[in-house]
Amino acid sequence: MNAMSRRGACPTLSTPMQTGDGLLARLNPIAGGLSPNTLIGLCESALRQGNGIVEVTARGSLQIRGLTPFSARQLAGEVEQLGIAVRTGVPVETGPLAGLDPSEIADPRPLADAIRAAIASAGLAKRLGPKVSVVVDGGGHLTMDTIIADVRLVAQKRGNETVWLLATGGDAATAVQQGIISENSVCDAAIAILQAIAALGKEARARDLRAADEILPVGLISPLEGKMSGRTEGGISKHFPFGIILLANATLALGIALPFGAMPAGKLIELSRAALDEGTADIRPAPARSLLFLGLSEDACHRLQDTAAALGFITDPTDPRLHIAACPGTPACASGNIETRAIAEQVAATVPGFFDGSCTLHISGCAKGCAHPGAAALTVVGRDGGTGLVVNGPAKALSPDNTSCDDAARGLAAIANLVQASRQPGETTAACLARLGAAPIQTAYRQD
Ligand code: SF4
Repeated sequence: MNAMSRRGACPTLSTPMQTGDGLLARLNPIAGGLSPNTLIGLCESALRQGNGIVEVTARGSLQIRGLTPFSARQLAGEVEQLGIAVRTGVPVETGPLAGLDPSEIADPRPLADAIRAAIASAGLAKRLGPKVSVVVDGGGHLTMDTIIADVRLVAQKRGNETVWLLATGGDAATAVQQGIISENSVCDAAIAILQAIAALGKEARARDLRAADEILPVGLISPLEGKMSGRTEGGISKHFPFGIILLANATLALGIALPFGAMPAGKLIELSRAALDEGTADIRPAPARSLLFLGLSEDACHRLQDTAAALGFITDPTDPRLHIAACPGTPACASGNIETRAIAEQVAATVPGFFDGSCTLHISGCAKGCAHPGAAALTVVGRDGGTGLVVNGPAKALSPDNTSCDDAARGLAAIANLVQASRQPGETTAACLARLGAAPIQTAYRQD
């Protein structure tokens, strides 16, 4: 096993990445879900080998931090003993309820399996960079809209026929929509795009490619028809894996979220025990830093929801922490300059009315912006001796002349007060911030 992976690569169980509090390992179970006892075993392993915090990422992977080279090897062995098969190679991701959601347009799993097999037989895994990924989205209640991928395939209906919208290089709002592909050709098209990325070298991503119709054989892809573009209003579907969701087998799933994607392993053990008592056999990490508990009755969902809330998990869809992205920051990450999650908790508690769901606040320990790589309405970035604020941009857009502020929570409270004083009837926080523009927001942040 490599002791650590290079920065910029993805930290897997076999190649953990160095961070401020030791090595970080990420795992993505193959079967999609874990039994409660398996998740309890994994949490106990995190307590023994790591720092005792279990994380669920924005993409729905599990993470364990605070490992040493020795304990990372121990963790990998314990994961194997628990029987957790983890995905390796090029990620080909489907939604956490793929095949179980009665509202999905197509079950994406057969296509995802075919793409995985074709990647293996073409030997693509070793020729592509570690961040290249594929999303296969069957539609339905929980879309994969927020997940960034090099190749995005989204099921659509054309009459009675299922076809696939191909987009490249981004999430649902930012990817370049290339066209519509038939069910029979879609696997070949995905592999052709991956081959074209591989031909450009291991640093290449889909954004470096020419248009797909110059890469794919003539006739394989047809142009978009207006209504089939699949773009949702505002760009991204807001269907979080949250609350009570009906499954195709007439049972229910309960979705809850981890505040900023992290929870002490002990609390997750308690929740898993309660889920076991309620009859769950399957717990699935899900996008948006969530967990889904499958196979419950309605009464069981409500009881488990109460237990989760008492343990500090997010169960209320109006919880302001759902709209704040915060990376581990200091002291967990060596690159961090601020205590991101402490600032986030303080802001969520002091100005909850600011978070109406119309925009995201991103608090980033440094300009890398791990918790929210894209643009956010407001991004606080830790830097030497304080913080800077980016308005309507990503963390990496911070420039040396951006406003500096030593007390980010107070600066953000000042912005919330400005919005409250300036808000027009019916105006959302996002619309108000956009109307105000960057200059008065930066001034408020500085608390002049
Ligand atoms: S953004 Fe946060 S987690 Fe990422 S490197 Fe910077 S401090 Fe670390």
